[in-house]
Amino acid sequence: MPALNNADGRPGSPRSSTPTSQRSYSLSDSDRKKTQLSLEAAKREIQKLHEIIQANINKATKNDQDACAKIKELESEIKLLHLAQTNFLNNAVHLKEAKCTLEEARTIELEDSTNKNKNLLEGTLQEKLKILEDLRIERTAAAQKDEANRKELLESTDGILAQASVLTQQITQIGTIEEKLAASISTFNHHPPPSLSAPTPLSTPPSVSSADKNRFDNIYVILVDQPSSSPLSLDAFQKQLNQASKEAKKPFRCNGTYTIKSGFKINLPTEEDQAIVADLLQSSPSLSAFKFKIPKKVKPQYIIKFTSISSAEDLAIDLVARNPFISKDTFRVVFSMKVKEDTHWIIETEQQYAYIFNPLFNVFIGLKRCTINEFISINHCKNCGKYGHTKKRCISTAPICLNCGKPEYDPAQECITKCFNCNELNNKLNRNEPTDHRTGNYRCPENMRQLRIARQKAGQA
Ligand SMILES: [Zn+2]
Ligand SMILES: [Zn+2]
Ligand SMILES: [Zn+2]
Repeated sequence: MPALNNADGRPGSPRSSTPTSQRSYSLSDSDRKKTQLSLEAAKREIQKLHEIIQANINKATKNDQDACAKIKELESEIKLLHLAQTNFLNNAVHLKEAKCTLEEARTIELEDSTNKNKNLLEGTLQEKLKILEDLRIERTAAAQKDEANRKELLESTDGILAQASVLTQQITQIGTIEEKLAASISTFNHHPPPSLSAPTPLSTPPSVSSADKNRFDNIYVILVDQPSSSPLSLDAFQKQLNQASKEAKKPFRCNGTYTIKSGFKINLPTEEDQAIVADLLQSSPSLSAFKFKIPKKVKPQYIIKFTSISSAEDLAIDLVARNPFISKDTFRVVFSMKVKEDTHWIIETEQQYAYIFNPLFNVFIGLKRCTINEFISINHCKNCGKYGHTKKRCISTAPICLNCGKPEYDPAQECITKCFNCNELNNKLNRNEPTDHRTGNYRCPENMRQLRIARQKAGQA
């Protein structure tokens, strides 16, 4: 590089103005060229950097502008959203108001319809009440008519009753005459007039009917208390009783005397015998230590089955009006049992009138002939066929057929009517009772025996 030299006449360089540090640089031309070249290169570099910076600035500006635009866009969107929100809130308020109005409307409508219904119901109720009142009036009228009819009927029935009563008396009288006649015939038969020749033996023994055999079944009981101070043996009591009877000259018939818990039991065949013994116990000084009582006899009861009559009064009227052998004062209606459409009736009589009802099988009641049977309860098992318990308490696991008496009912096997009990007792006791009836049949000999036992038991109750 050429030095900045005074000699060149060129205004001095700063260095030349400092004389103390005056130095001279002499650059070769090649160096100068090199330096110029690198300077230019640097200048170009700077220019390039400038361009890059400008480009960056431009880019940044553009980004900024874009961002601004976006912000503006967003701001407008936000504004729109705000608007929408406000609208929404407004709508909600409106909806609420609408809902309230609707509910009010509904309530009003409901009230209206309820009132209408109420009015309707009240109307119907009034109508029904009116109908009911009419019915009531009608019924009262009908009842009055009924009452009048019944009075008329009762009056006419009284006439019939009077006639029936006369008839019954006549029948009773005829019965008494018949009995007397029968008694005198029997006396005549058993006591034939004495004959001179030796009596010839009877070829056949006199026949005794089963009614005769059972004549003394009706036991009349007296229960005698043992005196607590000096208890007697049965034998001693019997002797005292017999002695008293002899002394008072009052003989009586006796079925037997037994020891029981409280003292003695005397079984007597008739009411008269009972009265004699009671009198002896009361009046004989030797028997004064004994207290006694006569147990109440249960009155005979009968069941009339499947009547169409449901009032006790009507039944009593029918019994007398339609069955001339039954008179008004010989029975009392006790109670009834409803059986589907029909009614069973239980009537009661006094012991002295039992002869009227005992032989009956049927009576005319209403427009029907109804069966009438003794009403006495015996336990007959419909499972095993035996007496003394009911099916409910039966322990047998082998049920029998009540018709043929064979084990269980089998439609395949032959089923010929044969009483289980009579067949068994015939085999066991070598008897010959008829067996051609159903087990538990009312007329079965064993059933009759059970009835007799039950009757005796009832008599001592
Ligand atoms: Zn049984
Ligand atoms: Zn059978
Ligand atoms: Zn039998």
